[in-house]
Formats: sequence, C-alpha cells, structure tokens
Amino acid sequence: MKVRNTIKEMAGYRAGREEGQIRMDKNESPFALPEELKDEVIGRLSKLELNRYPDQLGEPLRSKLGAHLGLSSDKLVLGNGSDELITYITQLFRGDRIVIAPPTFSVYGIYGEIAGYDVTEVPLDGSFELQTGKITEDLDGVAAVFLCSPNNPTGNVVPRDELIRILETGTPVVLDEAYWEFAGETNVDLIDEYDNLIVLRTFSKAFGLAGARVGYAVGAEDTIEELLKVKLPYNLNSLSRTAAEVLLDNYGIVEERIGRIVEERERIRGEFEEYAFPSRANFLLMDLDAAEYLEDNGIGVRAFGPPLEDKIRVTVGRKEENDEFIEVMRRYLEDEID
Ligand code: PMP
Repeated sequence: MKVRNTIKEMAGYRAGREEGQIRMDKNESPFALPEELKDEVIGRLSKLELNRYPDQLGEPLRSKLGAHLGLSSDKLVLGNGSDELITYITQLFRGDRIVIAPPTFSVYGIYGEIAGYDVTEVPLDGSFELQTGKITEDLDGVAAVFLCSPNNPTGNVVPRDELIRILETGTPVVLDEAYWEFAGETNVDLIDEYDNLIVLRTFSKAFGLAGARVGYAVGAEDTIEELLKVKLPYNLNSLSRTAAEVLLDNYGIVEERIGRIVEERERIRGEFEEYAFPSRANFLLMDLDAAEYLEDNGIGVRAFGPPLEDKIRVTVGRKEENDEFIEVMRRYLEDEID
C-alpha cells in the first residue's frame, strides 16, 4: 500500500523555517514559558525516575486535568498530542467511511484514509458553515463524523444546535476543540447526554506546549474505556506530562495569555477588516494571496491548495510580531493591490 506523505502535506507552504523568521504559520502559542515556570518544570523533571516506565493513564496529570475541568478523570484519555488520539479514534469505530467537512484540519482525512476508510467530503458552504442537512441525509456505513470548532483554518465555530442534530443520528462524532480557549465556548458538556460524542483538546495552543506533545480526549466513560483499549500502554512520557502539570498549576498565566491573543487577533482583524474573516481562534484566515510577499519579508504564514489557494492563514503572534505583520501587510496592499 502506498501511503500519503503526511509530513510533506502538513509542512504547509514551505518545509523549513529560516533563522529569524516570524512564525505565524502553525497556530502555535507565540509565548515561551516564563523563566519561573521553566525553573519549576526543570525542578520537577529532576525528581522523575526516568529509569521507570510512566503511569499508563498519565497520572497524576489525568486527575489534575479532571479537577481543572470539573470532570471525572474516567472521562479523559491523554495522548501524545491530539494527533495521536485522532489515530486511535480511527481504529475505534466500525464502518466503511468517515465524513469530514473541508476546508478543515487535514489530519482527519489523512489518518482516516491510512486506517482504511473512504473519506466522504461534505464541504462547508460559501460562508464556511456546515451543511448539516447533507451530512445527516446519508450516514450509512459512516464510522465517525469529524468536526472542528473553532474550525482550522476558517476560524468559525460549529453552532451547538447543528452539532446536536448530527449527534441525534447516533453516529459517532469527533468534535475537535483544539482552539476552544480562544472562543470561550465549548460543547464538552454534551458528553453527558451523548455517548457518541468525543471531544478533542490539546496543550499545544493556549497552553503553549506544542513541543511537549500533550493532548486529551473527553467522552462518556464507556467510550473512554474503549479508547483506552486502543491506546498504546506508555503513550505519554513522564517529561511531557510533568510540563503539562506545571501549566495547570499555573493556569492564571495561560488565561492571561489567552486574553492577550484574543485582543491582538481583534486588533489585526480591525486593521484588515475588508480581507480578514471573523475568527474565534488564535489565527485569522485572510482573503489575500500574500504568502510569498510575507515570506520574502521574513514572515511565515500558511498558504493552501484549492479551494483556499488565494488565501492565507495567519497565526496571531506577540504584539511586536503583529506590529511587523501589520506594517508588511500595509506595504503589500499598497504595492500589490492598488
Ligand atoms: N486539531 C487541530 C484542529 C489542529 O489545528 C491541530 C494542530 N495544528 C491539532 C489538532 C494537533 O494538535 P496536537 O499538537 O495536540 O497534536
């Protein structure tokens, strides 16, 4: 079997990053860990018994996260990033195909295909809204419907009533909430009513731990029990788990940074309202074919193939990075558009 080259596909516009480039291409947090938290992480790491295997469930992070979310930890599975959990989910459900709603996060389709499913695309409409009627009209043989809210790369959220309409069919639904903190809106509470719902979350965005690779899935206890059967025994290493614990213990810093990103997102959107779609995430989709110009001016953004070939996705950076972006974009609009 010939497998798609995911590393190449996920690398985006250009594979490498140049030294000194402003990175606004991968929806990461632009903030490094504050020094005092780095010290705390290092202090805790030095006490780990690295000669021992980690706890199979990721304890004590799993319990700590449960307490933070106000959920029983039996409703949580930790993963080596939420990407890993997506691959587990594709092994969990029986069916011939999965449904995705592009443009959306490419990993659902890529790993769905690798797992042997056909991938049915029900594209978002011209306003980037779900075509819920089309999704629900034919769910025969569907193993799972993958939704993303806020959606990467469009930035809009899945309306709760549309989600419920799909859940009511009984088909498994994976709701990826990787960016939910920036929207301040979640549907995770629906796991109590719908055991066909799995919500995915990550420490890679608002928590600023993309390099540590920590994600989690939330679902009804029975669903999580099944997911735990698929999970590799030691999927989450002790080092990453410890870093995530430190961030949870210092959540005030995370919260403050979310506020700053949301403020900066709105500032950039205000500057380019004519071109930037509204966003509830830490990035903005812009109707400008400016990736190459920005790249030439030291700013990396994400460009796409069809149907978004004339658009860019810009991750919100630190204030000074955004100032630079705004300045370069103003020049682009003067030079290229007039
Ligand atoms: N879901 C979405 C929608 C994403 O955009 C990303 C990262 N680009 C992920 C999941 C992957 O997150 P993680 O780093 O936890 O694997």
